[in-house]
Amino acid sequence: MAIKLEKLVKTYYDKLEDGKVMGRKCPVCGNVEWPPVYACNACGSYETEWYEMSGKASLVELYMTTTMSAKPAYKPFEPYAYGWVKAEEGPERNVMIRNVTKQNEAYVRAHLPYPCHMEIVQCDGYKSCVFAIDPIDGEGNPITIEKKAAPVKKEEETPAAEAEAAAPAAPGACKAKPETVAALIKLAAESYKVDPATLSAATVFETELKAPSVIFVGFCAKIEDEFDVMVTITDASAAKTIGGVAELVDKLVEEG
Ligand SMILES: [Zn+2]
Repeated sequence: MAIKLEKLVKTYYDKLEDGKVMGRKCPVCGNVEWPPVYACNACGSYETEWYEMSGKASLVELYMTTTMSAKPAYKPFEPYAYGWVKAEEGPERNVMIRNVTKQNEAYVRAHLPYPCHMEIVQCDGYKSCVFAIDPIDGEGNPITIEKKAAPVKKEEETPAAEAEAAAPAAPGACKAKPETVAALIKLAAESYKVDPATLSAATVFETELKAPSVIFVGFCAKIEDEFDVMVTITDASAAKTIGGVAELVDKLVEEG
């Protein structure tokens, strides 16, 4: 089966720079995949094509966070909550949803599914897509939310204790090449804005590098550039640790 090899992640990010959020549409059954993946999850066809998302979506479920994260990577996104959204074209996903506040939470909750939209935001060095509702007050009246200062401040946290807590990988646990692990630690440190000394092959993305998934996607895009390989977000997420992703990268490089 001929699978057209295109750099999905790179193309996706290049299009974001042009203000377009791209998915993949299946010409066989019409199903749309977002974030873009090659194969159609509805009928299994590999012949999906680029498709510009309308950006319209519905917030189906809402989860409030008790406190905003202290991580600087989150700052430009405030105020936000998390929610289950369904894009107009069908794809559903658990995402960050901006402009939901303690003041308007009850109103939004009472009006689910609530209209929302994709929003392209500037991260450190790349653009990303998050979701947002139009800013409203507690009665659903439109309001203006003051823009947060855009530059993301560099963070000087990483107490020694935390650094020590990042346990080194057990010998033999990670089969990836040491140079691959070292390169990924460098890329992860850049993406997550942490001290590389706190990272190891054993670092778990989900629990130890808590950040919006857009940061992980950006990390994958950096890997694609650095190693000239295609990384699917699904495979990379399944790898869980830096060492796991390194093994994946080694495998992809080997396969050419
Ligand atoms: Zn299909």
